[in-house]
Amino acid sequence: MASWRRLASPALRGLAGLRGEGAAPGRYLHTENHDTARLETSSAKTLMDIGTRRIFSSDHDIFRQSVRKFFQEAVVPYHAEWEKAGQVSRELWEKAGQQGLLGVNIAEERGGIGGDLFSAAVVWEEHDLQGVRTFAKKDGSDWILNGSKDTAELFFEDVRLPASALLGHENKGFYYLMAELPQERLLIADMAIASCEFMFEETRNYVKQRKAFGKTIAHLQTVQHKLAELKTQVCVGRAFLDSCLQLHSAKRLDSATASMAKYWASELQNSVATQCVQLHGGWGYMWEYPIAKCFVDSRVQPIYGGTNEIMKELIARDIVSDK
Ligand SMILES: Cc1cc2nc3c(=O)[nH]c(=O)nc-3n(C[C@H](O)[C@H](O)[C@H](O)COP(=O)(O)OP(=O)(O)OC[C@H]3O[C@@H](n4cnc5c(N)ncnc54)[C@H](O)[C@@H]3O)c2cc1C
Repeated sequence: MASWRRLASPALRGLAGLRGEGAAPGRYLHTENHDTARLETSSAKTLMDIGTRRIFSSDHDIFRQSVRKFFQEAVVPYHAEWEKAGQVSRELWEKAGQQGLLGVNIAEERGGIGGDLFSAAVVWEEHDLQGVRTFAKKDGSDWILNGSKDTAELFFEDVRLPASALLGHENKGFYYLMAELPQERLLIADMAIASCEFMFEETRNYVKQRKAFGKTIAHLQTVQHKLAELKTQVCVGRAFLDSCLQLHSAKRLDSATASMAKYWASELQNSVATQCVQLHGGWGYMWEYPIAKCFVDSRVQPIYGGTNEIMKELIARDIVSDK
């Protein structure tokens, strides 16, 4: 496995700061290369520990620290306000761009940061920044851009773009789109597992402090067994997803495998969300609790990016084909 130090651009390394702020060097195995000696999430103290998973290097860890800090400082405090407004602020997108969180694995000469796929995964695992849906019509040598984003209500109306803004070849957009579908499915699947990890840790913390009949509910064997089941399922999912990320980084992730990841991880996310809400009792139904938001967010995952029924079609087609 190639080293991120070699693959990553100076720009990305500069943006990450490479200061190691917030790291706990004693606890983590820092390595220059992707290292099989790194802890997997199943052995880590929490499923969200930085410094785990053999697909990452210590440079990715430092980048993740800066990304997590960004979301905690620039997103979390304003989330409720944006929810009310029905959109995130323009400043957030500008700040995210300045911090190098947009176009992470796009080449520097195309305006991106030039990081590798694993660096992009760091960003989408920490926050769901959705893609934008637009279309362009030719007007002389220019292009007129129109379109909108489903979820954050960004609208583009008659935006004039010069001919030089064209990426790739004219009328090849659909082929480029098809080529990117495994990545979209992988992204949804990875976000599903990242959400499962977050929900598990939220629930672990909750049951360890919630008291019923004089002791915490974490003392109940039924609760402990449920946590054991959840952790096992999430770690099994994480192992498959990390393997898919590695395959995709080596351009070897096929459409059927990406579909399996999307279908299975998003179903798991819904199952984990339901069980974690249950373990929160009545509080799990309250909007103020992150677990309630996770429950709602999980529901769309089997629908978009191609429904899970369509994923099964693609998997099945591959199974019964004569190749
Ligand atoms: C929040 C959100 C964000 C989205 N973001 C984007 C985006 O950024 N870009 C984008 O392009 N789209 C986006 N979408 C659209 C999304 O991809 C579609 O909603 C999804 O693909 C399902 O298509 P549909 O809504 O037309 O449902 P339909 O195709 O009408 O499906 C309805 C039901 O029928 C089932 N069904 C349909 N065909 C078959 C079949 N052949 N075999 C078996 N079952 C079938 C489906 O599985 C589903 O259960 C978004 C949707 C949502 C809700």
